[in-house]
Amino acid sequence: MTMNKGRLIVFSAPSGCGKGTMLAEILKDEKFRCSVSCTTRAPREGEIDGINYHFISEEEFEKRKAEGMFLEHASYCKHSYGTLTSEVDPYLEKGINVILEIEVQGAMKIRELRPDALFIFIMPPSVDELRRRLNKRATESEDVIERRVQAAAGEIPFAKKYDYVIVNDALEDAVSDFRSVIRAEEQRVEPMSEFIDEVIRNA
Ligand code: 5GP
Repeated sequence: MTMNKGRLIVFSAPSGCGKGTMLAEILKDEKFRCSVSCTTRAPREGEIDGINYHFISEEEFEKRKAEGMFLEHASYCKHSYGTLTSEVDPYLEKGINVILEIEVQGAMKIRELRPDALFIFIMPPSVDELRRRLNKRATESEDVIERRVQAAAGEIPFAKKYDYVIVNDALEDAVSDFRSVIRAEEQRVEPMSEFIDEVIRNA
């Protein structure tokens, strides 16, 4: 049985939820690809242009927006972020599942534009734990961390608008929960209907 088109997966998590480590694990499977977004924020230490993000200026961002290159875009903590359509559709066509690692405003836009996408929200065990993880990461100043904690607290209520919620307490469990969700989705009647028809035809 072959699945023709890839599935669009919206994967949202407030920063500090361990989404990066989860994604690194998930992306070991070549059936998945993470779309590389554009952002106007500066690279953090270790981040590589074209791999983590396309790091571009405000002017370049506005230009791409005017040219209609973004499937969705949003601003977050004073910076602009956007998903390029060219990072999504060509891969879905090839049968690859494309993950959009985006915040909630963008996710809600995708809900309207692509209702067949799968929406997964990653939760921290608590806001205190999230603050602790961001402090441990120590890649940002205290006020940036506090701004991110506040942004996270504002994003968590949106979890109720997603299809699945995964609590990232232990990485292995969270990744295994993600795989279970994908597996369950693959067993839904719609993706299985071609197979059902084939069995009926050959009966
Ligand atoms: P960070 O600066 O920590 O890499 O990302 C900040 C937030 O922006 C995260 O919640 C991340 O998921 C989100 N984000 C990254 N790329 C995009 C994008 O293309 N569109 C939207 N809407 N959000 C994005």
